[in-house]
Amino acid sequence: MYFAFVENMKFRITKKHMTRFFKRLGIAAIGLFLLFILLNLIFPLKTNVEYSTIITDKNGEVINAYLTKDQKWRMKTELTEISPLLRKTIIAKEDKYFYSHPGVNVFAIGRAFFNNIIHLKRTSGASTITMQVARALEPRKRNIGSKLIEMFRALQLEMKYSKGEILQLYLNLVPYGGNIEGVKSASQLYFKKNPDHLSLAEITALSIIPNRPSSLVIGKNNGLIIEERNKWLHRFADEKVFTGKEITDALAEPLTTVRGTVPHYIPHLSYKLKQQGNSLIKTNIDLNTQLKAEKITEDYVRSQRLKNIKNAAVIVIDNRTNKVISYVGSSGFSDTLDGGQVNGASAIRQPGSTLKPLLYGMSFDEGLLTPKMIITDVAVNYEGYAPENYDEKFNGYVSVEYALEHSLNIPAVKSLKLLGYEKFIQKLSNCNFRQVQKDRNKLGLSMILGGCGTTLEELTGLFSSFANEGVYISPAYTQDDTLHKRVTVISAPACFMITDILSQVNRPDFPLNWQATEHMPKIAWKTGTSYGRRDAWSIGYNKNYTIGVWVGNFSGVGAPDLSGANVATPLLFKLFNTIDYNNDKEWFTQPADCDIRQVCSETGMIPSEHCTSLVMDYFEPLISPSKVCNNRQEIMISADEKISYCKSCAPQNGYKKKWYKLIEPEMQAYFDEKNIAYERIPPHNPDCELIFKGNAPMISSPANGTEYLINKKDPEPIQLTCKTANDVSKVYWYINNKFYKSSNPGEKQFFVPEEGPVKISCTDDKGRNRDIWIQVKYVNL
Ligand SMILES: [Zn+2]
Ligand SMILES: [Zn+2]
Repeated sequence: MYFAFVENMKFRITKKHMTRFFKRLGIAAIGLFLLFILLNLIFPLKTNVEYSTIITDKNGEVINAYLTKDQKWRMKTELTEISPLLRKTIIAKEDKYFYSHPGVNVFAIGRAFFNNIIHLKRTSGASTITMQVARALEPRKRNIGSKLIEMFRALQLEMKYSKGEILQLYLNLVPYGGNIEGVKSASQLYFKKNPDHLSLAEITALSIIPNRPSSLVIGKNNGLIIEERNKWLHRFADEKVFTGKEITDALAEPLTTVRGTVPHYIPHLSYKLKQQGNSLIKTNIDLNTQLKAEKITEDYVRSQRLKNIKNAAVIVIDNRTNKVISYVGSSGFSDTLDGGQVNGASAIRQPGSTLKPLLYGMSFDEGLLTPKMIITDVAVNYEGYAPENYDEKFNGYVSVEYALEHSLNIPAVKSLKLLGYEKFIQKLSNCNFRQVQKDRNKLGLSMILGGCGTTLEELTGLFSSFANEGVYISPAYTQDDTLHKRVTVISAPACFMITDILSQVNRPDFPLNWQATEHMPKIAWKTGTSYGRRDAWSIGYNKNYTIGVWVGNFSGVGAPDLSGANVATPLLFKLFNTIDYNNDKEWFTQPADCDIRQVCSETGMIPSEHCTSLVMDYFEPLISPSKVCNNRQEIMISADEKISYCKSCAPQNGYKKKWYKLIEPEMQAYFDEKNIAYERIPPHNPDCELIFKGNAPMISSPANGTEYLINKKDPEPIQLTCKTANDVSKVYWYINNKFYKSSNPGEKQFFVPEEGPVKISCTDDKGRNRDIWIQVKYVNL
């Protein structure tokens, strides 16, 4: 149409001519418009650009990045990173009329066309920024046809995107030589900063590279680049794009940079977060703390190598913000010999004893226990499950506090049985324990001793709730993690009691040879050692931080010296000592709904008039047990103290009353075994009618006098059951006069007998007893 117009100019322009011309122009314009619409439908615009995944720290600095699938550094420049200076410089250099043309600059094309014909040479400059975007999206050989397609695509781009978005696409796609694409990659690799921090001189230097990427290589041809840069700066001065002062400063700026490398900090977390598929992942990592934690971990693991301990993982949560500020997946990512690329922080491992604080906290809230409550640490057997303590010893009567401090196993198993492990599993599931949730139908009492799968991420998250009055808030790994799950794990008073116990320093698991410096901040912590000494855990917290430490081998091999106390806790202390060096010494305060009371030290119950030794104990009013101590009972006995009586058999006179401490048969068995003296209640009057009236338990299995042939290779256990009077709530089984087990009257028990005659006795809680005998022979079946 342009040429038609020029042609018509030769004639005298008449009104008739004008009308005809505009009519034709109108038809042609409508035709072109319809053609564009049609082509737009047939050849829709595709702008799927794959960007490099970028990981930033809490300040938005790039701390890790990944190549695209086509092996390019193509980092996405966010709109906010396009500074006015960057925009102004690029537009002044590339496309002055960017904001006024519709994607194609008709006048520039006309001029280029004219120049090509007149001078028979190719001149560039007709490509708008939009057309350059079109070319970068679909690279083609340079010819007239490609130019027309680019123009069509440019119109499509303008129709779909704002000018700001098109400029952003341009800045993201412009090639800077080698595998570097986009201004962000270039500014990161050449200037180690984000594009919004580039100076005028730097932007200008970068902007000339795309023109001749192979001959203008930063680091190799810096002199040539400065020459070219300054040409453009002078042109900007002539065109008054920038002030004289700005130009003078830019001209004076040296260019000494070389191509650098992309940082690869927090490799484990970066890789994990990359799987989410976003091109920009803003973590909450505090790089300073991260680097310190990495160094401490690396040095520490090096010091443990002689013990055949080769790896560790660490997570640090800032308790005030709930953000994960450090994440060390292994003691050295580049350590290929010991699997340094394995992420130890998200690996599923056995937790050892680290779940015990949660168990006791929940038991406080259920009104089952208080810190000074006495429980028995003696051999137990739950349907074939007979847990042992870490040192394979039993401690008899212990307080809950002592049991947690010493990480005793039997009190923990008993408490879990009392609480119900379903409740415990549910609580862990609520706190994002994935493997526990998955295995919920397979788990049982052993999970409290580490018989389940957890990760350092999960455990550190759980412990951070102890620093937050018992409220779990899922730790924020990225700045987009704003939808926080809030779960009340334990109440504020239970949390305070647990923290009080876990912050005692005179503990058996205080690391050997640890020289506490005066700066060591106060912390509460719990250790754990998994079965086979494969995993050492120590997780600690105070008001400021929760730090989780795992030490072990990725190969899964245990080490004889590996234990939470001696291997993981020293690293935990070192980390607290460094990260929380300027601790404000603020500690947790006793919540209003946590009270203190006097209890009997022998039971932990409310003292009766007979209790002589009293201690102070924390408790939850209206929740904690309020039973009065009843471990002493007045018994009627004969004058010589050889026989005891009940109301129905006591003689008219000739008896006396005496107070006895009641000791459960299982504790009596424990005392007997350890030769610990205690005052026994004399046996019940053998002439007592109540016993002979048949109120003693009836043993229904096995039958009295039965002969058993038992397979030597696979001995099958014999079932014990009994029938009792209605007033019985507990029965005690004895095998050959040795205490075996206590149970509820209706409950089945099992035991594997020894060869020969076996005496089986069942005593009820009123002291009534029944004995039977069986014969056992071991044979090869
Ligand atoms: Zn008492
Ligand atoms: Zn009696």
